[in-house]
Amino acid sequence: MNGLVCQSCAATYPMSDPRWRCGCGGLLDVRFRARFDKEAIAGRQPTMWRYREALPIDEDANVVSFGEGMTPMVPVDLGPGRPLLKLEQLFPTGSYKDRGAAVLVSKAKELGIARVVEDSSGNAGCAIAAYAARAGIACEILVPESASPGKLTQILLYGASLRRVPGSREDTAAAALAAAETTYYASHSWNPFFFQGTKTFAYEVWEQLAFRAPDALLLPAGNGTLLIGSYIGFRELRENGLVDRIPRHIAVQAENCAPLLAMFRDGLDAVPAIETRETIAEGVAIAAPVRGREIVDIVRETGGEVLAVSDAEVESALVLLGRKGLYVEPTSALPVAAFLRFPGVRSGTVVIPLTGHGLKANEKMGMLASPGR
Ligand SMILES: *Cc1c(COP(=O)(O)O)cnc(C)c1O
Ligand SMILES: [Zn+2]
Repeated sequence: MNGLVCQSCAATYPMSDPRWRCGCGGLLDVRFRARFDKEAIAGRQPTMWRYREALPIDEDANVVSFGEGMTPMVPVDLGPGRPLLKLEQLFPTGSYKDRGAAVLVSKAKELGIARVVEDSSGNAGCAIAAYAARAGIACEILVPESASPGKLTQILLYGASLRRVPGSREDTAAAALAAAETTYYASHSWNPFFFQGTKTFAYEVWEQLAFRAPDALLLPAGNGTLLIGSYIGFRELRENGLVDRIPRHIAVQAENCAPLLAMFRDGLDAVPAIETRETIAEGVAIAAPVRGREIVDIVRETGGEVLAVSDAEVESALVLLGRKGLYVEPTSALPVAAFLRFPGVRSGTVVIPLTGHGLKANEKMGMLASPGR
């Protein structure tokens, strides 16, 4: 039966319950029987909504969309190999987070929700703000007081109201949890409908490979919104007999903030407390990912691994991508840096998403663009 299921206590709730967390505090998953009609899919518009039977929105009228998805996937010679790069930076707000926002905000509309709250000064905040604007839903984004004004411009222009929370990133998360007592929490880490959108990444890879799965995916990972979504998508394809195995999911972190690496390497079942330092890959600088256990379970189950690269390696990868005509933000270069550094991840068909646009991070990119490099 379709609904929401708790990862901790297995309690279930109807899909129409506007909740984002179990009564026991556990994480919720969406239980939904995804279906695929290969012939129909091929005849539809080139958007992520071509997999309509696999997306848990009841009424077409509730779909909130800019015609996003079906991003190009192109082979690029990186020197030691030729992975397929999927150009996820080409989404309407400049990152793949639009996949998650499109489905989450569609579900909010279907539930008749008038107001959502999210805590992210980055790409998730931008995506939720844009799709809320498209849906006519009021949106409040909570950010740490320290968030740089430049990053907030896009969110403000979409008409979201911004609340600056004094203190650390954790204080902002706590304020969002408090706000979520009364407002629908459009969280990219907690709300399970976000992952019902990011799963379309897997469907597109499958279709673009002539309905095959690749051997491996190299994915930047902090909260795991793309990694978990990708796994859900491939699992559904396998459940429908459309692929025979789930590709290796290889998570790439920044060395300066790598809790998943510690967990994987030390065989832990929970995210350990770790020391972190600042990293240029700010999109995945997540010290305590709420779905950390789920991410590492996926890596283990699919025969993947967790890797980490340094900021210097990220910078080199950004320059190399630029020379190939690809302008992406620093976080997007993590898996490319891992591909260059670790020979073990290069065998077979390897897919790497370029997750966010370089124009989002012009000031950071400036220092890489000097003629001497
Ligand atoms: C969100 C994001 C990621 C992946 O982050 P998760 O925390 O794992 O969801 C990677 N790159 C960019 C540009 C992002 O915005
Ligand atoms: Zn529970």
